[in-house]
Amino acid sequence: MAELHDVTKLYGDVTALRGVSLAVGEGELVAISGPSGSGKSTMLHLLGTLDRPSGGVVRIAGHDVLSLTDRQLSALRANVIGFVFQQFHLAPGVPALDNVADGLLYAGPPLRERRRRAYEALERVGLAHRVGHRPHELSGGERQRVAIARAVAGRPRLLLADEPTGNLDSRSGAGVMDLLRDLHAGGTTVVVITHDRDIAASLPRRVEMLDGGIVQGALT
Ligand code: ADP
Repeated sequence: MAELHDVTKLYGDVTALRGVSLAVGEGELVAISGPSGSGKSTMLHLLGTLDRPSGGVVRIAGHDVLSLTDRQLSALRANVIGFVFQQFHLAPGVPALDNVADGLLYAGPPLRERRRRAYEALERVGLAHRVGHRPHELSGGERQRVAIARAVAGRPRLLLADEPTGNLDSRSGAGVMDLLRDLHAGGTTVVVITHDRDIAASLPRRVEMLDGGIVQGALT
């Protein structure tokens, strides 16, 4: 599903990743952990094609990211990849239904169909009774579930989550993790960055990073 081969990423004179190799198979559920600044988000951004590597090869769903145009990359993101972030990134003042439906803009179905799929996704995350609520009318856990609904409304094969429980109390966090496990059980490949040792320990595969490299779990 996703493969990094000897990938480096430089930001000016900062080396965020130094020759990282990782293969994530279709249907895996992988935790990425490691101290702050170790390169976790950088690696997730590369897996999500939000950024291009400075060196090495990134292959997502069989495509070499460096060989794709910006347009092809956008299409790959829209059709194959879903993202969930610690800060939710919902549009303020916009009802949950439209926050989710707008995530399907690039994929292109008409508004009615976008809303229908958005409603289904919100149902899947247990929020059918909150579709008209705006982000400020939702709890943190509910906001993250809306963000997950948005990420999965397009039925991505690969779901990438950057500290999805980082802003949540432990009970809401556990709910979000249950949801990610359900999606994984349904066949979605899930990669989740987490600081939480208990969460990492509960997942089937753990990749540990330090100083821009993988120190454990690069191979299954
Ligand atoms: P983590 O997610 O493990 O906290 P990051 O991947 O965010 O680590 O960062 C890895 C290193 O790269 C850090 O030293 C960070 O300061 C640096 N870095 C990340 N993004 C940028 C950027 N856009 N510009 C400059 N340096 C960056």
